[in-house]
Amino acid sequence: MLLVKRHPVERESRDALLRQIQELKQQLRARTRELHQKEDELQHLFYMISHELRTPISAIRGFASILLDDPATLATEATDYLQRIQKNVDRLEKIVNDLGLLSRLNINENSFEVINLQELISDILIGSYDQIHSGQVTVAIQPDLPPAYGYREGLHHVFSNLILNAIKYRKHSKPLTIEIGCLQDEFFLKYYVRDNGIGIPSAYRKSIFDMFVRAGNVKKVSGSGLGLYIVRRIIQAHGGEIWVESKVGKGSTFYFTLAKTP
Ligand code: ADP
Repeated sequence: MLLVKRHPVERESRDALLRQIQELKQQLRARTRELHQKEDELQHLFYMISHELRTPISAIRGFASILLDDPATLATEATDYLQRIQKNVDRLEKIVNDLGLLSRLNINENSFEVINLQELISDILIGSYDQIHSGQVTVAIQPDLPPAYGYREGLHHVFSNLILNAIKYRKHSKPLTIEIGCLQDEFFLKYYVRDNGIGIPSAYRKSIFDMFVRAGNVKKVSGSGLGLYIVRRIIQAHGGEIWVESKVGKGSTFYFTLAKTP
């Protein structure tokens, strides 16, 4: 009988190799689990998108066929139906644009830079000149607003979405004031955008950051229900959090945290 005696060094390196194989197997199993989870999320996303697109499409088809089938309606209610068709087309367009934005969103730390927020917000306000000057809107920015460290296009989107939402969901019975500022501790900057608009019912304060969720009292305002979902994705990609405090009829304050400039 042939006896193979292993040298102790050979045995050690064989054990190390086996351990390494075990670790790799475990990593592979964890990665496969993650992939399955992502696949489920993606499937849920496709379901939500197709469900969400179906509502405006069937509304457009419905109103268009009333106009086609019943010529008598044309004289009396055509304007109303055409306006409804237009509203649904606007919503479809907003959903498609926001989904496009979502698909392009690829934030990694290599693209981070120090951003002068005074300048960034001024650019947004100039770009939103029409919305701001069409009503009584005052925007008060904290004079020493600290710079942020992050992805410029992403943070531009965050501030512009929060400011435009404050305008969209304003109380038309009184002038709108938007305050933008920052509180900070040792590690974090906590930025806020505050308005004195319609406010958000407590049942919706968490879910408005989910896909396609719109709080009850916004029937007349068009939107995709994707804005705050994208905003949250951007903040989370920066390692931060976002939440809202609000009183119905009094206004809302959106807070988000970012790590301090390194
Ligand atoms: P959209 O504006 O397209 O509906 P968002 O994701 O931006 O979608 O917002 C989700 C919902 O949160 C809105 O439909 C609205 O009900 C509510 N909301 C967001 N911002 C405000 C605000 N500043 N004041 C009151 N309600 C708001």
